[in-house]
Amino acid sequence: MTSQIDNANSREDTTALSEMNEENRANGTWTRMLQGNKRFAQGTSEHPWQDAETRRSLLQGQNPQAAILTCSDSRVPAEIIFDQGLGDLFTVRTAGATIDQAGLESLEYAVDHLHVSIIVVLTHQGCSILQEAAASVQKDDAVSQDPQDTAAAASIGTDKATSSMPFTMKQALKTIEIAHKAEITNPNDIERIHISMQIERLVDQSEVIRQALSQEKLKIIGARYVMTNGLVEVLSF
Ligand SMILES: [Zn+2]
Repeated sequence: MTSQIDNANSREDTTALSEMNEENRANGTWTRMLQGNKRFAQGTSEHPWQDAETRRSLLQGQNPQAAILTCSDSRVPAEIIFDQGLGDLFTVRTAGATIDQAGLESLEYAVDHLHVSIIVVLTHQGCSILQEAAASVQKDDAVSQDPQDTAAAASIGTDKATSSMPFTMKQALKTIEIAHKAEITNPNDIERIHISMQIERLVDQSEVIRQALSQEKLKIIGARYVMTNGLVEVLSF
């Protein structure tokens, strides 16, 4: 656990951040999160702001600096990975970081009402949703009369995978389709492509987010959590 003095300094920094201009606020928030991730990866997490006093101090409201869209995967808890505390992160988690209406509205709430300066779209190493989507397409590739016809194979894959998680798999399969068109089959690279696909969806589907971006009140950061070393790799900032 971190000392009270460290805690106090860290939260004073957070307060100061709200007085900076938007770009500095976004940069400061993301830097703080990356520092927390570094501590987590090194096994020196401070677990800040998780005490009873902090819990009670947040009774009147929240002032998170960042929103996160990430996977529901039990190995990808945002607060732990970034070594953050109560009131720090506004988090949306769905299998495969899939974007649905409720998730979209949650992120819009974070932007519009809570004035977060960044949305982090975080995928991760070994995402089983993407693996299953890729496997369903590969199976179809193997039985296809024309293995070069990846579009046809992807569409057969869609039919099969949509039977259990139709909405989620549709987005995952779209990522696989885009990856295969670019002749990319490496799972790490597919996870990276999924980030840009989900960011594109967010911007396409949300007027609130588009407006905040154009007014430079918001940044969207693409990142991928690497379980091997515990670090978050930044793909776009
Ligand atoms: Zn996942």
